[in-house]
Amino acid sequence: MSPSAAAPADKQARSHGYDFAGPLGVGAITIVAPSVSYLLYFGCNEHGCPPTHLSWPQYVERVLPTKDQFFSLEVLGYFVAYVLGLALLNVTIPVRDRLGVPLKTGERLVYNLNAYETFVPLMGSLAFGTYMYGWEWSLWTWIWDHYLHLLTAAHIFSFTLACGVYLASFRSSKPLLAAGGNTGNHLYDWFIGRELNPRLGNFDIKLFCELHPGMMGWAVLNLAFAAHQYQIIGRITDSMVLINIFQFWYIFDALFNEPAILTTMDITSDGFGYMLSFGDIVWVPFTYSLQARYLAMYPLDLGVLGVAGVLFVKGVGYFIFRGANSQKNAFRMNPDDASVKHLKFIETKSGRKLLISGWWGISRHINYFGDWIMGWSWCLPTGFDTWVTYFYVGYFAVLLINRERRDDGHCRIKYGDDWNRYTSIVKSRIVPGIY
Ligand code: NDP
Repeated sequence: MSPSAAAPADKQARSHGYDFAGPLGVGAITIVAPSVSYLLYFGCNEHGCPPTHLSWPQYVERVLPTKDQFFSLEVLGYFVAYVLGLALLNVTIPVRDRLGVPLKTGERLVYNLNAYETFVPLMGSLAFGTYMYGWEWSLWTWIWDHYLHLLTAAHIFSFTLACGVYLASFRSSKPLLAAGGNTGNHLYDWFIGRELNPRLGNFDIKLFCELHPGMMGWAVLNLAFAAHQYQIIGRITDSMVLINIFQFWYIFDALFNEPAILTTMDITSDGFGYMLSFGDIVWVPFTYSLQARYLAMYPLDLGVLGVAGVLFVKGVGYFIFRGANSQKNAFRMNPDDASVKHLKFIETKSGRKLLISGWWGISRHINYFGDWIMGWSWCLPTGFDTWVTYFYVGYFAVLLINRERRDDGHCRIKYGDDWNRYTSIVKSRIVPGIY
């Protein structure tokens, strides 16, 4: 931490109300979200997606696992070794140091950024193994065979981590707490994250979890699913190739643009609790890879027209998503940059400016809309024989609507009346003219 001349602030101040309908809401999410991650497995597998043709006794007999199929201590050990291995790479690979945004204490944390420097050798070694042993490589088979064990291991790990950082947040040195995660209600604060930036020395647990085990694990799972498809039909279909490329690109983009995460809500405002621990380590890798897992079991060829259609949807979504995010980043870094200096903005009392033309004049979160459209291009390659794989766009719509509301609340506090002025100029929240 680098000290600053700014006036000291109360690091443990309580300054925020409840999100997610308070303790009852977060309690419900803590039960429902993990259940959904299992439901997607039990509701979409080799027996059907969903296996509705089975009677309940057949379903119980064929699909529901025994305790040993559900949990394996050995796999939990491998999972922990995987996360610790990535953490070790995180602290040993040469890094680019960046300062985070100023905290309310005036301090700025130093972040060691090396997500894609870790990802490239990880992917390189998987590519090498596949080159040597083919798609039948035992690692790929192992991941497929132990999917349920891995899912349970990820659950145990994320839950334990959330409890650990919550307990540690009460340590006597009084760390900086997240405004939203310091309500005094144990369940709520554990879920939202009580401590803003839990760290072990310079190792930032939140940043690590945001980009390392889960995002990278998602890419690994997708490849294992492609390998499984190859093992059952002797080739990899165009739909599987598309899903793998799209999602690999999304992951690589996030890792490559790692500095951009330092200004996101997750890093600047949210504490690190079960919400992020579960989201990063369980939800992202295991539910976002559903489409590839489906195609591993139910291969599908799209043909030239199908591929072109999906590419079109992806292109439109990416154009909006990248255009809006890059425009805001460029504006926040340097409003006089040639790419943004023609844009209109309003001045605010906080000293910061808010764009009112360009992408950010179309809607207040046009980047979310682009991201959601891209989500469709991840589901469409699975065809129309199932609705389960479209779960992602439904869930993502709910997430983005909630996220926009939360960001709106934070901005209202940050900008006061200026935010009202801004929202009276840019009226749509996400979808221009509709929402
Ligand atoms: P945004 O990148 O949309 O950032 C919101 C912040 O931007 C606000 O808090 C405000 O911060 C600033 N801002 C808002 N309006 C303006 C304006 N008019 N002019 C200038 N600055 C403005 O938020 P997220 O972190 O939620 O999203 C980042 C990306 O990540 C999005 O594309 C989203 O789709 C994606 N995402 C993907 C998820 C997934 O699971 N796939 C989950 C969550 C997000 P300030 O004024 O302080 O700069």
